[in-house]
Amino acid sequence: MDGKKLEHSSDVDPARGAAARDAARPPREEVVRFGISAAPGIVIARAFVIDTDEDLSVGKTRVPQDMVDAEVAKFKSALDATRGELLQIKTSLADSMGEDHARIFDAHLLILDDVMVIEDTEALVRTEGYNAAWALKEVISKVVASLSNIGDEYLKERSADIIDVKRRVLAKLLGVKMDRVLNPSEPAILVAHELSPSETAQVDRRVVLGYATDRGGRTSHTAILARSQGVAAVVGLEDAARLIETGDTLILDGNCGTLIINPLDATVKKYKIEIEKWKEFEAQLLTLTGYPAETLDHHKVDLVANIDLPDEVRSALDYGAEGIGLFRTEYFFIAHEQLPTEEEQYKVYRAVVDRMKDKPVTIRVLDIGGDKIARYLHRSAELNPFMGWRGIRFLLTRKDIFKTQLRAIYRASGHGRVRLMFPLIVSVDEVLKAKEICEEVKADLIRARYKIDPDLKIGIMVETPSAVALAGALAKEVDFFSIGTNDLIQYTMAVDRGNTKISYLYQHLHPSIIRFLKMTVDAAKKNNIPTAICGEMCADPLAAVVLLGLGIDEFSCSPNMMPEVKKIVRSVTYDECKTIVKKILQYSTTEKIEAHVESFLKERIPDLARFKEGKQHA
Ligand code: PEP
Ligand code: MG
Repeated sequence: MDGKKLEHSSDVDPARGAAARDAARPPREEVVRFGISAAPGIVIARAFVIDTDEDLSVGKTRVPQDMVDAEVAKFKSALDATRGELLQIKTSLADSMGEDHARIFDAHLLILDDVMVIEDTEALVRTEGYNAAWALKEVISKVVASLSNIGDEYLKERSADIIDVKRRVLAKLLGVKMDRVLNPSEPAILVAHELSPSETAQVDRRVVLGYATDRGGRTSHTAILARSQGVAAVVGLEDAARLIETGDTLILDGNCGTLIINPLDATVKKYKIEIEKWKEFEAQLLTLTGYPAETLDHHKVDLVANIDLPDEVRSALDYGAEGIGLFRTEYFFIAHEQLPTEEEQYKVYRAVVDRMKDKPVTIRVLDIGGDKIARYLHRSAELNPFMGWRGIRFLLTRKDIFKTQLRAIYRASGHGRVRLMFPLIVSVDEVLKAKEICEEVKADLIRARYKIDPDLKIGIMVETPSAVALAGALAKEVDFFSIGTNDLIQYTMAVDRGNTKISYLYQHLHPSIIRFLKMTVDAAKKNNIPTAICGEMCADPLAAVVLLGLGIDEFSCSPNMMPEVKKIVRSVTYDECKTIVKKILQYSTTEKIEAHVESFLKERIPDLARFKEGKQHA
């Protein structure tokens, strides 16, 4: 059996009876599945399957009329008990991982207090006489179905939170203990159709060695948490939870996005060698922490970190970041139940700036919209959110929010080296309008005698084809460019960045992308401003060679990807990277470009995870 029967959680120990089960079962074939590499690391362990949908079986029964009040009271006390449980988890998570991660539970608490869910459930009990557990299940199923019909990725993620809350309340109503379901007593890899952020946040890292999920993308909360926890993860596997049984042996390769189910002895042997090599390689990478990101012929680039939550500054510094190249402020907004005030924001920005001391901190103003939605800001869904009310468009129509954030950022700028960045720019007009608002804010703060940096550097994300086409004109208006390839590729290739079906089109080294990057860097150089890159592309080893050769000045990526990028920079010469770029600019297919860069890098650093069998070029 697997983790579906929560009431017998001792039975779900993956080590339990593994030998007996293996003997009883016909030998299973080795199956390889490719997903999205969400957090690095390679693990061989038993599977522990948790299925979040077919969990607690709830029967439909009728409550006698004279018991209805008692049934409603039972429902309300289940809600109270769940609230207490969530607050407890939130507090312990705040202790272990910081306040920002703990805020993930604010969404759960909001769901728990949702008047419609409570009233509709109570109505089903009172008017139809159904048992509360069944009534709640019905109400929640309808909410989840209506969210999934909208087809919005963010709302789908919220469905995971809603289902998680439902499970907790049902467990209380049915008197079922859920405590051990996520944490097997022996080390194992958690397998789930979907793992909610709250589940991910609660796992015990001593026994959960990896995550394999059918859903999710690199930017989902679960992936973000997995990276912060240092737990290997592969997401977007589509049907892994259906294929795998608790106790199956798995090889999870978070470096390559590969999952091998019931591997043959020869495969296990091969991966054991891979694990040793990976450990050695990681240890060797970490020895580079104190060294500069400098090529063999002494061309230096700035290696800085992307952070999504303020707490991640710690790992940025641990991995030797020379600054913060992208602080995505939207996660902090999303984690709040309502708009954070100027003071709340100031405290957060100031804390990051203080911890980075004299190192630069690039704060991107709110890039809300697309797949990053705060309930209190986006009340109605858009048909095409990535093309919609997002980034600077949002801010220029919600000047109140924009100004409050700018005030907080400018105030933090008085205490360190802050840089300000605008997202999703498509026209010079937008930059001029945004800068005008900055001037107003600055003047107000100076008048009020706040300590600010009067020369605060202002830059833009170059992440739309329009910004590339206008790079020459835009460069005249700003102090720096930061290329956001996550979006630039999506908009250039017309490929939704989170859609697994068409992910084969999401190519970092597509000839049109290389040309766009060159146009951007050339325009910046002509206007004497630096160019950074903060898209995921920068942590792709082949791309790193090309970005170097293009003359990008600053590389910004997730903290734990920085050592590998540094290794690449320190293993090549600037001259040979420039020659490579010259050559690949003559090619018109991704295959030819990749083959050319790969043959160079493979010879230089054969140990890279990129060169292992089965690597998915996500
Ligand atoms: C990008 O688009 O490359 C980027 C870094 O921004 P985000 O991933 O937040 O859209
Ligand atoms: Mg972007």
